[in-house]
Amino acid sequence: MAHAETVKKTQTRLLIRNIGLLLSGDLEQPILDADTVVAVDGKITAVGKEKDLDIEAATLIIDAKGTALVPGLIDSHVHPVAGDWTPRQNQIGWIDSYLHGGVTSMISAGEVHTPGRPKDVVGLKAMAIFAQRAFSAFRPGGVRIHAGAPVIEHGMVEQDFKDLAAAGVTMLGEVGLGSVKDGATARQMVAWARQFGIQSTIHTGGPSIPGSSLIDKDIVLAADADVIGHINGGHTALPDDQIVALCEKSSRALEVVHNGNERAALLTLRTARELNQLDRVILGTDSPAGSGVQPLGILRMISMLASLGEISAENAFCFATGNTAKIRKLACGRIAPGCDATFVMIDKAQHSAGKTVLESIQRGDLPGIGMVIVDGVVSVQRSRNTPPATTSPEIAR
Ligand SMILES: [Zn+2]
Repeated sequence: MAHAETVKKTQTRLLIRNIGLLLSGDLEQPILDADTVVAVDGKITAVGKEKDLDIEAATLIIDAKGTALVPGLIDSHVHPVAGDWTPRQNQIGWIDSYLHGGVTSMISAGEVHTPGRPKDVVGLKAMAIFAQRAFSAFRPGGVRIHAGAPVIEHGMVEQDFKDLAAAGVTMLGEVGLGSVKDGATARQMVAWARQFGIQSTIHTGGPSIPGSSLIDKDIVLAADADVIGHINGGHTALPDDQIVALCEKSSRALEVVHNGNERAALLTLRTARELNQLDRVILGTDSPAGSGVQPLGILRMISMLASLGEISAENAFCFATGNTAKIRKLACGRIAPGCDATFVMIDKAQHSAGKTVLESIQRGDLPGIGMVIVDGVVSVQRSRNTPPATTSPEIAR
């Protein structure tokens, strides 16, 4: 009894009130009829109208001041290396910069820019386990980095995937970035990985940098990885008929990236919509890369797809939140009881021609971020990277 009381007193109870627009992250119902979110110890416990909810005993109260609340954005395709540094463009603090672009979760598609990256089987396994451990323990600004994604090489056997899974590795890096570039070997290794609960993704399209190579639709279909990584190329896209064939002949996730071909991204979106399979569309930046790092990359994708892709802004947010969370089996990305209390609070940018935040995005503008909350804790107040939000939330208590 005494113990139960102690537990209750030490709970952190977050109350966010006066939410003007609540985007759920779920394509089934992207806008919720609610103005209040309650979270206990980093997990959402209630979503609804303030008058209907138990809002007693809040330890942290945020007044949204009529702004919009969105699940924290997920970048489905990053290439981290070590800490908050990337050797690709020799930048420090890139992950923290993405947090200021609303990204609260990142998924590694392989730590491929690691200088001297080992390509022997023991070495690549050791590096993957190291990256998984290091990034689980390192959360700059609260950003959760899912890393430790080995790039498959010839010579790997079933036992290697079993070992990796037992050691905590949950995903493969981009198939095709290592020596395995043929459909049959890729298919075998992807199947071994899947058998031990390891998710996979595949490089799609032309070589991204010197040393990388072409992976065409036949190899992608043969490999059958869980995610068709950068279906819009990284940057060089496949011909239109191959992109359409991937959408039609595979049921795997269609990942569209910032550092890809925008025209091919719109083709993918249009094809997925015609197939009535928008739930397969997920967003990434594919950064750091030759084209740099993009702190606002996911927001830019949402705005690009909403303004040019005949898709509503609220649906575009689902591509970067709930869709990715479902496909990647994450507890974030949706506003619903039980999910992570990880939020981005946005408003239309100052002087946007759009009347509302959604309309401003529909017109191709970026929203302004007024606050980022990770696991129930305020991590960022006014973003240093987005255009300024017209109105920002306030910490009321
Ligand atoms: Zn790639």
